Amino acid sequence: MLGRRGLVMGVANNHSIAWGIAKGLAAHGAQLAFTYQGEALGKRVKPLAESVGSSLVLPCDVEDLRSVDGVFDKLAETWGGIDFLVHAIAFSDKNELKGRYADTTRENFSRTMLISCFSFTELAKRAAALMTHGGAMVTLTYGGSTRVMPNYNVMGVAKAALEASVRYLAADFGPQGIRVNAISAGPVRTLAGAGIADARLMFNYQQRHAPLRRTVSIEEVGGAALYLLSDLSTGVTGDIHFVDSGYNIISMPHPAALKT
Ligand code: NAD
Repeated sequence: MLGRRGLVMGVANNHSIAWGIAKGLAAHGAQLAFTYQGEALGKRVKPLAESVGSSLVLPCDVEDLRSVDGVFDKLAETWGGIDFLVHAIAFSDKNELKGRYADTTRENFSRTMLISCFSFTELAKRAAALMTHGGAMVTLTYGGSTRVMPNYNVMGVAKAALEASVRYLAADFGPQGIRVNAISAGPVRTLAGAGIADARLMFNYQQRHAPLRRTVSIEEVGGAALYLLSDLSTGVTGDIHFVDSGYNIISMPHPAALKT
């Protein structure tokens, strides 16, 4: 990734999946810009960015389109163009990340979809305009998009739409040599992850029943992102790549695991 430049969105702290990705990219020579949501998170993100040699750290709330445009104006002014985009952003009211999906409110449905799904489309369009020599984008999804995960609810619906967006964006931008993929990560203990009811229970269950009998680290997600954003994956676009210790292939836990 030497000489490549890109934007990483979604670092909240050193437990964030986006941080695992940023560390992997920086270790392989990429030059990074970061965004942060609000000044409180900015205080955490700035020293992290500095630790990987980045001084381009910009505020951005995807609900505010002016702040989104501000980021891409600044990138155009500073770098002229970019080579990659990492989108690791999601939000839903935690009161609706429990109980029944059927009880989702109209207000939270719209907000969850805007922040967790449509933001990727708006950001991808702006990023693609700066990828004049081709490029690559990655977003983060979860297996609750295709199979029912208790409490994941509206976020599962948003992730299904996000995964469909990946395919449509891959088709839109493919002719420009821009690839668009998603990583479907297994459960990771992060701020966003903690908002889901019974998160610890789901984490332990997947740890127990995934083929690898463990969960994944943010560094492992970072390794997959490095592959998808680098020339190692030039033939890959529109893909949903699982980094979940193999949990997605399991239909039923092994009887031996159920007996213990
Ligand atoms: P995190 O809390 O560290 O990151 C979530 C990020 O979203 C934060 O940086 C937050 O500032 C940002 N964000 C939320 N609303 C925003 C807004 N309006 N504008 C700008 N940024 C906003 O948690 P994470 O688990 O690292 O989440 C990153 C991505 O990974 C999310 O898309 C999440 O759904 C996905 N994911 C997480 C897990 C998991 O188990 N933690 C599993 C699979 C996928």
